[in-house]
Order: sequence, then C-alpha cells, then structure tokens
Amino acid sequence: MKITFLGTAGSLMTENKSFPSILINDDLLLDCGEGCTQKLLQLKTIDTINTICISHLHGDHFSGLFSLLWYYWLSNRTADLTIIGPPQTKATTEKIFTLMNAPGGFKVFNFKIYFNELTDINDIQEFKRDYRIKCAKMDHAIISFAYRVEKMGKTVCYSGDTKPTQQLVKLADKCNVFICESTFPDKYIKFADDYGHSTPSDVAKMARDANCQKLVLVHLYPLFAKKVVKSKNKIKEIFDKEIIIADDLLTLEI
Ligand SMILES: [Zn+2]
Ligand SMILES: [Zn+2]
Repeated sequence: MKITFLGTAGSLMTENKSFPSILINDDLLLDCGEGCTQKLLQLKTIDTINTICISHLHGDHFSGLFSLLWYYWLSNRTADLTIIGPPQTKATTEKIFTLMNAPGGFKVFNFKIYFNELTDINDIQEFKRDYRIKCAKMDHAIISFAYRVEKMGKTVCYSGDTKPTQQLVKLADKCNVFICESTFPDKYIKFADDYGHSTPSDVAKMARDANCQKLVLVHLYPLFAKKVVKSKNKIKEIFDKEIIIADDLLTLEI
C-alpha cells in the first residue's frame, strides 16, 4: 500500500502546505482539502481516483472537492465516483457546486456520483469496496469520522479532526500506519480541548494503546507547528516506535 500526503496543513494553509488530503495507492482519497487537485495532477493520478472519504464538513477538509469536481466536469471524466462522508455531505456538495454556476448545476457531469453518508451512531461502520473501509465517530466541534482502510493485509488509520478518544484507539488497533491530527502542542491543551483537537502526547498515547506500528502527525496549527515538531523526542517516551511529522508530498510504502 502506498500513502501519499497531498496536504498536511492544520486549519490554516501555509506557503508549503495544502489543506488535508491523503492519497491511498492511486485511487482513494482520505479528505479532500483545497490543493489536492493540483497535487493529483502533478502525480498524474487525477483520473484514477474512484473513492473519496470525507472526515467532516469543516472547510479545510473538503474545500478541494469543488475544484476536483470542476476539473472532472471540464476534462470529460466518465468513470463513476463514490463520496463517503458525514450526514449532509450530499446536500452540502450539491449546494456549493451549484453555486459555482456550471451550466446545469450538479447535472453537468458525464458520470455518476454515489454518495454514501455515514450514520450518526457510535458503532464502527463498515464498507466493502476495493478496500475494506471502517469508520468511527470522533469527538470534534462538529460531527466527524475517522477512517481505517485495509487492503491485502495492510492497514492505515486516519483520524480526521478529533480530541483523544477511545473510539479512535479501537479503530486504529494494530494498524501499520496511524495518521493522526496533532493541532496544538501539549502546552495548549486547553485550546485543544476547547476546539476538539489533540496534542502530541494525546496522539502518542493513542498510538501506544492501539499498538500501531508507525505514527504520522499531520494537521499542525501553523502558529504552533515548531513546538509540536520539537516535542517529537518527548513523545517517543510514550510511543517508542517510528514517529514522522508529514509534509506535503511525503510518500510511505507499507
Ligand atoms: Zn481541520
Ligand atoms: Zn475540523
């Protein structure tokens, strides 16, 4: 399994980091933040995407969907597309795309878009596609889901945005790569708690408890990113396996 980080910014875009989006192999996206369309073009994988999983409907996590759909319309895409996301993903996507004034609104596409909206329940939800996809509801300012993606014995788990939660520990159980948001440094735990985010120590504890093989931190809030990077050695005392802080276009093979 190949994991490519298309966007790793936390909440605010920076000159080097696009909004969150992770490419699995060449066909599945975990989140679709602004910037992913151009990165997919650079990687020559834009036409092979068939499934997009959205964690939640905060702008940084799904704003890229509209430039991507715009591209698919004007490049005459014909392959169907599946979008998995929280409740209201379909209505929100249709509404925003329609406001972009493509002639015919959401009927402009030469392919079908299948929406698979997750249910607002605490149980783990599961889909069988080319991948085995499991989702669990997280603890964030709005309804948000984490995803676990498995193929041929390889597993990656992505948190989306969340406070530390046992639901995520359960979902990430023994995964090869655990990709987790780490928006605020430990010192700003009050901010993390107020806004529904995690700190490096929170993340390391979840990775340890889930017995993951490798931890990747993403979604560092730019103002505090240096502090989070600095804490890497400290959190190794909690999670003693490999810890990576991802930049855009980092690729991991597992
Ligand atoms: Zn976010
Ligand atoms: Zn969010």
